[in-house]
Amino acid sequence: MSETLELASKLIACNSVTPNDVGCQDLLEQELKEVGFKCRTLREGMYPTFNLLALHSVDPKANFEGDPTILKNNPGPYDASGFVAPGPFTIFLGHTDVVPAKESDWNSDPFSPTIKDGVLYGRGAADMKGSDAAMTIALKNFVKKHPNYKGTIGLLMTSNEEGDAVGGIPFVAEWLKKERLYPDFCIVGEPSSSKTFGDIIKIGRRGSMTAHITINGKQGHVAYPEQIDNACHKGAQLIAALLEKPLDNGNEDFPPTSFNVTNFNSGVGAENVAPGTCQIMCNWRFSPLQTPVKLQRRLEKTMEELGIYATVRYVINGLPFISSKDGQLVTALKAAVEHHTKVTPDLNTLGGTSDGRFIAPLGTQVVEFGPINATIHKANECVNVEDLETLTKIYEEALEKLHL
Ligand SMILES: [Zn+2]
Repeated sequence: MSETLELASKLIACNSVTPNDVGCQDLLEQELKEVGFKCRTLREGMYPTFNLLALHSVDPKANFEGDPTILKNNPGPYDASGFVAPGPFTIFLGHTDVVPAKESDWNSDPFSPTIKDGVLYGRGAADMKGSDAAMTIALKNFVKKHPNYKGTIGLLMTSNEEGDAVGGIPFVAEWLKKERLYPDFCIVGEPSSSKTFGDIIKIGRRGSMTAHITINGKQGHVAYPEQIDNACHKGAQLIAALLEKPLDNGNEDFPPTSFNVTNFNSGVGAENVAPGTCQIMCNWRFSPLQTPVKLQRRLEKTMEELGIYATVRYVINGLPFISSKDGQLVTALKAAVEHHTKVTPDLNTLGGTSDGRFIAPLGTQVVEFGPINATIHKANECVNVEDLETLTKIYEEALEKLHL
């Protein structure tokens, strides 16, 4: 059994449903400490989320322990501890938590790693304990093979990616900012491949914004239409108006901005009562051609034109980001994927969000690359054992291209 497969299997055996880590990060820490990584667990208050940050450098300027004299020597607005991560600084980003599994839907115990016909089955095999293992073993191999590499390399893990991210990467990103530890490059091991292993590298993501709209009308008996102002009809009008015109046509890197109603709720349940309120929940996945405020203004203008009175609460889930196709990170990873898979990856920004969106605002180039995502969040989630070995080699080669 290879090191990557062995580690992936150990991780799958931990029942780490969000936001529990149940020892997964300890396993990764043990591996990395063997080759000299400095590890710390970052936690926000009493939240159950665990985050592991493991860093390594052979540069004598590196300081991952902090410097108690720093505040005395550098009084300033920052409450930094004196960490120094010489560049180039590459971080692998992953998560140890998984979505729940209903055992009766599975052919094997979802938390007992099972290998059958060259395929590893278990909850998290593809999303993303297989990648967690590949990233860790790649870092280990790289350090062992290249004792004089340049810069800083590291691993960042959270146990709250599948949940609300509270105490997770948003908290770590703030901590990194405070400590002025800004990664240049971030490789997220999320399962990006679609049909064939290696076919997609995600080089950015769309933004996501949700609106919770409550429309106010006037409730009344349907037999007296002149006395009512049907909130449900207003909601329908609003949705029709918002769907009418496309927001943009996207650009070379991003598909057009999409709008979707995710919930529509109105009425008291009686056959003869016209509803006085209507609740709509909707979401935009937007390209950099939009901003949250631009989308909000459009919604508000549409309501004004229709004479709709409503209260709206917005939730901005993430802003769009993109890493240049000609940038060092995309170039390095693409070449490594082509070398090991003989597949030319499509570079795109499709799909859902990931924790990469919290790291990109640090000025970091962020990409996502990992195994085939066909079985993620499903029963009998699995990953090809061979792909995990190749993935380890790809990550290792990307490090070589960026740090030698
Ligand atoms: Zn994931």
